[in-house]
Amino acid sequence: MEKKNIDWSNLGFGYIKTDKRYVSYYKDGAWDEGALIDDPMITMSECAGVLQYAQTCFEGLKAYTTADGHIVVFRPDLNAERLENSAKRLEMPVFPKDRFIDAVVKTVKANDAYVPPYGTGATLYLRPYMFGKNEVIGVKPADEYEFRLFTTPVGPYFKGGAKPLTIKISDFDRAAPHGTGNVKAGLNYAMSLHAIVTAHNEGYDENMYLDPASRTKVEETGGANFLFITKDNKVVTPKSDSILPSITRRSLMYVAKEYLGLETEEREVYLSELDDFAECGLCGTAAVISPVGKIVDHGREICLPSGMNEMGPVTKKLYDTLTGIQMGKVEAPEGWIKVIE
Ligand SMILES: *Cc1c(COP(=O)(O)O)cnc(C)c1O
Repeated sequence: MEKKNIDWSNLGFGYIKTDKRYVSYYKDGAWDEGALIDDPMITMSECAGVLQYAQTCFEGLKAYTTADGHIVVFRPDLNAERLENSAKRLEMPVFPKDRFIDAVVKTVKANDAYVPPYGTGATLYLRPYMFGKNEVIGVKPADEYEFRLFTTPVGPYFKGGAKPLTIKISDFDRAAPHGTGNVKAGLNYAMSLHAIVTAHNEGYDENMYLDPASRTKVEETGGANFLFITKDNKVVTPKSDSILPSITRRSLMYVAKEYLGLETEEREVYLSELDDFAECGLCGTAAVISPVGKIVDHGREICLPSGMNEMGPVTKKLYDTLTGIQMGKVEAPEGWIKVIE
């Protein structure tokens, strides 16, 4: 396979059409057998359920080339399970896990010329998603659904080093208690747009959302979970039913405990504790960990001791170990790396 002529190291995070996408259609209570197709366009009724009542959920994962030249994906079984939970919460039919993995493998293989070479820092981003497609005007779940998986090559997240972020405590809420915060639904992102545009206009990189019920506890940002490092090197992540269970965060907590021998805690994290942490990072597929240098609570600045120039030392170790596992330079736990070809 000959790679596409793309300047991999200078790619941004945007949509670039690739050759094939996987589509399966659900009708009369069953998914069809699915197929790889060429057409990137979707035609549907003006009254489609997704357009009227936002019945859609999605996933995000990456395919990349390891040091020894294999194309792999990271823990796609967890994406399949999470999509299943999202679908159930939104009254959508489940797209079976084995079909999900099969769609990932087929779509990556069909677009292997777009999987960036090892060492470029770039990856092939995979976007599986589902939506209600038939006409829905009275509020109810759709009867017909489309599952689709497309790919797009994306550039290295940190060009020229990971610069610590400045984030604000948001006055907006992300997810209600007992709401949809723990599933990957498009609606959670629609309502976060005003908050992130507001934060950017004020000069912040991200929002820190609090628990809406008491506004005393840390939840997450619009698209990444928090990790904190205490001054005695414990790794702490907030616990809440309305946090989206990040696969990166779960993997990092495992790495902290099993690879680095650090103590880990998933527990409620109070706003009032933020002054005591040594390091803070945001975890998600895109960046693995983005370091946070400063948290601003209505004018009061909380400056992490790790500073505004580089990742803190523990965050860096976590980052290096997990990316080492992903790239095949550090031995991976059983089942974490799915080899495509
Ligand atoms: C997708 C997402 C994350 C990150 O999850 P990963 O599986 O690590 O990519 C975190 N928070 C929210 C709200 C998300 O939608």
